[in-house]
Amino acid sequence: MKLRSICAIAACKLTRQALRLLHRGGTALPGKAALLFDPKILEKVSAGMEIIVVTGTNGKTTTCGMLEGALRDAGRPCLSNKSGANLLSGVTAELTCNTTWSGKPKTRYAVIECDEGALKQVVPLIRPKVIVVTNLFRDQLDRYGEVMHTLEEIRTGVLRSPGSILCLNADDSLTGSLALDVPNPVVRYGFDIPTGEQKDPALSDARYCIRCGAPYSYHYHTYAHLGGFYCPKCGYSRPQADAAVTKILKMNQDGTCCRVRLPEDGWTPGTGQGCADSYEMEITVGLPAVYNLYNAMAAVCACAAFGLSAKESALSLKAVHSSFGRMETFTVGKTSLQMILVKNPAGCTQALEYLASAEKPCRVLLCLNDRTADGHDISWIWDADYEKICKDPGLTEIVVSGDRAEDMQLRLKYAGADTGRIRLIREMKEAVSWIEASRTPVYALPNYTSMLELREAVRERTGASEFWQ
Ligand SMILES: [Zn+2]
Repeated sequence: MKLRSICAIAACKLTRQALRLLHRGGTALPGKAALLFDPKILEKVSAGMEIIVVTGTNGKTTTCGMLEGALRDAGRPCLSNKSGANLLSGVTAELTCNTTWSGKPKTRYAVIECDEGALKQVVPLIRPKVIVVTNLFRDQLDRYGEVMHTLEEIRTGVLRSPGSILCLNADDSLTGSLALDVPNPVVRYGFDIPTGEQKDPALSDARYCIRCGAPYSYHYHTYAHLGGFYCPKCGYSRPQADAAVTKILKMNQDGTCCRVRLPEDGWTPGTGQGCADSYEMEITVGLPAVYNLYNAMAAVCACAAFGLSAKESALSLKAVHSSFGRMETFTVGKTSLQMILVKNPAGCTQALEYLASAEKPCRVLLCLNDRTADGHDISWIWDADYEKICKDPGLTEIVVSGDRAEDMQLRLKYAGADTGRIRLIREMKEAVSWIEASRTPVYALPNYTSMLELREAVRERTGASEFWQ
């Protein structure tokens, strides 16, 4: 290994250690230091590793957690960037710090969460065996413009790594279209069945055919624009999934029991026609909500493409638990707090749906910031379906908090909430005192930076671990 690479590795490790001594998380800076010494360091430290990359709007972190569990259970412990450093610098930091001082990887396997915009920089360097694309929804308008732009970014990334197996959501017409113009082998996961009653969801980021512009029809819906879509004009339609949910048997706060169709072991991925040899089994996923079932199927499908047993991977989902603000549960005082990160209309509407089905009575904390990492444009709250919870008498009190608490208050007013039940508590520490004093369970729906703040305030009160640990 060349001197400049050794310097890069040393700079990375020392910067991270220094930051930890200062009690800083330090997720990107060590990577920047490494890149300064050797711009090609990521390519070098990832050589010989077997990597799964996860990108897409919602569900990246949870899917990575599920993949990590499945790999660990299969006797393949892996590295992951679980602290959410998912840009080039953060990925570089994780993989560089994973090496010995002479540059040899300490683990052979890695599960890497990657930002949609950074995919085109990261994947040509680390050459993942599998790229998972979870879904595509309107998100952080300030950063991405429209969803079609994000889709182009992902397409460019995939094209730069033609050897990777592409794992796609069969029910998403947007990301599904990637298969039409990349040479990569493709595997797919999804739902073979509808969920809930919704015939035509109000919220759709993809109403019109991506190929010909005619409106889509649906055999069934799952949520948002996901489901059994087809275009009556040009024939573009939901392809067969290799791994799919075929029946939801039971869903509550602790998790979901369902039937799934999985590919046989030894299946060759990538024919694009769905696997010929499949079987059904019953599985338990240790997390509630339909969108987590999508994450679960993404993980199982990716594991199968990675060469693991789909069945074993599916069984490992029982032990999966929430990660960093995604359905994470805390005990605060005498009550429970469940934190559900929301950052866009589709994800938020799913969280509200979950809340509507939660055991009552309960209280709700809605936190909204508009800092750089959140996107300054918070108009997305007007597209999320707060109407689902506002008329529910079981929600005894709703607290709004964060920099844009008034906007949230206004949104709830328009959603029909009884203003007497809404309270504004600006400071997060004060909000935590309110949680502590509650006698019923509390659900918090924060967006990204308000989640960090809330989590920190809860941590100070309860001693939960710091996020990079
Ligand atoms: Zn069409």
